[in-house]
Amino acid sequence: MGGVNRDARAIWIGDLARRSGFGTLDAFREAFDLREYRLTQLYRAAAKELRASLDEVTTLPKPLRSALAERGVALSCVEPVTIQRSRDRHTTKGLFRLHDGKEVEAVLMEHRGDRSTICISSQAGCAFACAFCSTGQAGFARSLRAVEIFDQARYFAREMRERGKRVTNVVFMGMGEPFHNYEAVMEATALLNDPNGFGLGHRHITISTVGLVDRIDEFAGEGLQVNLAISLHAPNDAVRSSIMPVNRKHGIAELMAACARYVDRTHRKVFFEYVMLAGVNDSDACARELAALMRGRLYHVNLIPYNATPDAPFAGSDDERIWRFAGILDGEGVPVTVRHNMGRDIAAACGQLRAQTQPKARKVS
Ligand code: SAH
Repeated sequence: MGGVNRDARAIWIGDLARRSGFGTLDAFREAFDLREYRLTQLYRAAAKELRASLDEVTTLPKPLRSALAERGVALSCVEPVTIQRSRDRHTTKGLFRLHDGKEVEAVLMEHRGDRSTICISSQAGCAFACAFCSTGQAGFARSLRAVEIFDQARYFAREMRERGKRVTNVVFMGMGEPFHNYEAVMEATALLNDPNGFGLGHRHITISTVGLVDRIDEFAGEGLQVNLAISLHAPNDAVRSSIMPVNRKHGIAELMAACARYVDRTHRKVFFEYVMLAGVNDSDACARELAALMRGRLYHVNLIPYNATPDAPFAGSDDERIWRFAGILDGEGVPVTVRHNMGRDIAAACGQLRAQTQPKARKVS
C-alpha cells in the first residue's frame, strides 16, 4: 500500500535549480559542473545543517560558492521581514517574504520542558473564508511551493539550534489550507521527515484541514504516520455552514464518514479542533451533539479558546463555559483537551495570522 514515494533531496535540488532560473536540473548541473556529491552537499547544507546562506557552506570550494552566488543561487527562498517575540518570550512570530513579494507568517512556540512547535503556512492567504479566522477574511493570494513551506521551519530550527535547543514538532496550522495545496504539503512533509536532512519523525508532524473529503481519503492512502487534525468547530450542519462556507460543499455526515474511513484504514487517531464561540457553538446541547459524533471512535477533541481577530462579530466563550463544555465531553467518554493559547499579544495565536503588511490580497469566493 502507501502513496507516492517522494524523494526529499530530489525535490529540494529540483526547486533550487528552477528557482535559480535554470530550466532543468541538468542545465543547472552543467552550468557549474556539479557532481552528485556536490548536489548532496548543497542539500545537506540547507536541510540538515540548516545553513541560511552559501557563504556558510564551507564544504564547497570558495570559487564554486562565488559562482553560484553570482548566478543568483541561494539556499533559502523565504526572507525574514520582521520577527516578533511575545512578552513571555515563549512565542516568536516571523513574517517572511517570498520571491514575488507575497508574505506569510510562521510561529515558533517554546513549551515548558523540551517541547517546541513550529507552526507553518502552506499558502499566502486562504480561499476558505471561515468567519472567525483572520487569514480567511483576508482572501487568497497563492499556494506555496514545498521548499517555501520547508524554509519557514528551517528558519526557526536554525534559530533554536543557535540557542542549543531543538524543534520537536511541526504543525501545518499557519496560513492557508494544506489540503488545498496537497502535493506541495506532502513534499514539504517529505523534506521535514528525511533522515538524511531535517530528520523530524512523521509522528511529530500534524496537518490540519477544514475537511476536504477527497484529500482526506487520498491522505489515508499515503501510508504516513503523520497526524491529521480536522477543524470541525460545530456539531451540526446549520451551525457549521454559518461559520465555515466549506461545509456547504462537504457537510458533516460526509466529513465524519471520511474520518471513519481514515481511521479504519490507518488505525491512527483523528484530532478535532473546536474553537469556542460564545452563543454560537458552545451550548450544552452542542457539547452533547459533538459527543455523539465522537463517541466510541479513535477521536480526540481539542477545544480552542477564541482569539480575537479584526472586524469579526464573535466573542470567545469564557473559561467557565469552556470547562463545562469539556466536562460534558469527558462525561460522555470523549477524550478532550483545552488548547493553551500562546502569542496573543503579537497576534501569533490560532486564527490571527494575516501578514498585515501584505498588499491587499485577492478575495476568492
Ligand atoms: N486551514 C487549516 C489550517 C489552519 S489551522 C484548518 O482550518 O484546519 C488553524 C486552526 O486555528 C484551525 O483549526 C482554525 O479553525 C483555528 N482558528 C481559526 N481562527 C481562529 C480564532 N480566531 N481563534 C482560535 N482558533 C482559530
